[in-house]
Amino acid sequence: ASDITPLIAGNWKMNGLQAQMNEFQALGDKLATLENRNALVAICPPATLLAAMSEKGAVSGIATGGQDCHASPNGAHTGDISALMLKDAGAAYVIVGHSERRADHAETDAQVRAKAQAGIAAGLVPIICVGETRAEREAGKADAIVAGQLEGSVPDMASEAEIVIAYEPVWAIGTGLTPTNADIAQMHAGIRRLLVERFGARGQTIRILYGGSLKPANAKEILAVENVNGGLVGGASLLANDFFAIISAA
Ligand code: PEP
Repeated sequence: ASDITPLIAGNWKMNGLQAQMNEFQALGDKLATLENRNALVAICPPATLLAAMSEKGAVSGIATGGQDCHASPNGAHTGDISALMLKDAGAAYVIVGHSERRADHAETDAQVRAKAQAGIAAGLVPIICVGETRAEREAGKADAIVAGQLEGSVPDMASEAEIVIAYEPVWAIGTGLTPTNADIAQMHAGIRRLLVERFGARGQTIRILYGGSLKPANAKEILAVENVNGGLVGGASLLANDFFAIISAA
């Protein structure tokens, strides 16, 4: 129980053709039937669907977001997308520092911080991802790793702009594995503490999402954990029924 409105954000990753707009439409239709919608809802589709989805989402109250952005507003960066372009296409959020970007593109904390700053400057809310690997957890380093990522990836300007933190243990992403509720509670409390240390009372209001194998079967209990202010959902966000069930559980 918290007075922060939860955010349920879907991350479609590199999935979604025009045909999946039907699934998105189905989600909008189902949401229209939900009587007490407690959560903010967003989907971060591939960039190719962003504009169309933003237009449709505006009707059903589903915000959209990008999955990454370049740190510069424009320029000679073939293949990249700027935060300004995401905003221009209708996005409200941008995921930065997802573990798949950190792994596949060797993104550093400093780069993630610059991307988050670019997102804020463009008027987007960055969803800044942190989380330890299995080896790091087994070595007892999870807290230190996450603290370091937060320190390095969260820009100072977050003291004035809205940001979202997503705690996503890398070993829980797409694996069907989740930490225990006690482990989630401990990590989220630690993140909250660091945010308050750094940003004062503002730090109390920053959403901290949990991500990693959230699904209808575990959403209710995980979303009820102290300091869990919503979820970042990968696989289960691709299916309207599953995503709707998670939203309903928030
Ligand atoms: C993610 O990649 O952000 C994620 C949480 O994935 P999944 O829900 O599929 O584990």
